[in-house]
Amino acid sequence: MSLLTVENLCAGYGGLRVLFDVSFGVEEGNITVILGANGAGKSTLLRALSGMIPATGTATLEGRRVVGRGRHRSAARLGIGHVPEGRGTFGSLTVEENLRAGGYHRPRSEVESSLEGWYEFFPRLGERRRQLASGLSGGEQQMLAIARALMGKPRLLLLDEPSLGLSPKLTGTLFTSLRAIKERLDMTILLVEQNAHLSLEIADDALVMSAGRLGPKQSAAELRQDQQIQRAYLGA
Ligand code: ATP
Repeated sequence: MSLLTVENLCAGYGGLRVLFDVSFGVEEGNITVILGANGAGKSTLLRALSGMIPATGTATLEGRRVVGRGRHRSAARLGIGHVPEGRGTFGSLTVEENLRAGGYHRPRSEVESSLEGWYEFFPRLGERRRQLASGLSGGEQQMLAIARALMGKPRLLLLDEPSLGLSPKLTGTLFTSLRAIKERLDMTILLVEQNAHLSLEIADDALVMSAGRLGPKQSAAELRQDQQIQRAYLGA
């Protein structure tokens, strides 16, 4: 059974409709990647799922409604961790303060042990725990943004273009960490990416979004072999 089930989701900005009847499922414990050109609506989909923008249709996480819920129920409380495009870390707060903010709805004792766990997983963050987030490198800020979302102990992690602005080497390191997070925590990840090469390597399932509509779900391995995909996204 899918952990996340989305049916006929429509969303946009004011009078601009961006998503048209988007339906798909995300399997528990999988990394699912959504590929698509600039402006296809990938970020809008993640924003609709985490309640940042209004949407119609249905989306359920473990059977609980996440779209159309009451405004008082935050995405974090419903089990969704969202790392937005541009990371969204608080530059004027320290690394540790950013991480604590990610666990705001959890009991203090759990936050303390999670903090230590993430410092062990991302030693660079441990070394820089008292530094301001604004002083971190791009790769470190992305790690911080991901660790902050994971501090909320989500069931589903939404990642918007984590490779943006990172060198190929750093992107490789980051994607290896994502795979490790999936394996160690059995984390379910919905990833939106322009870097099709690397994301199809770490993903289990893949979909292509085009002008606000989603194609069918395929295995990432299958999509890598698709000639149209190779031409459009893999530089073949
Ligand atoms: P990119 O990788 O460039 O971010 P994307 O696939 O994530 O592409 P979206 O950011 O979801 O695409 O944008 C989809 C459409 O919605 C675009 O036409 C964009 O101009 C528009 N759009 C995005 N954000 C807003 C906003 N805050 N207000 C109005 N229109 C927006």
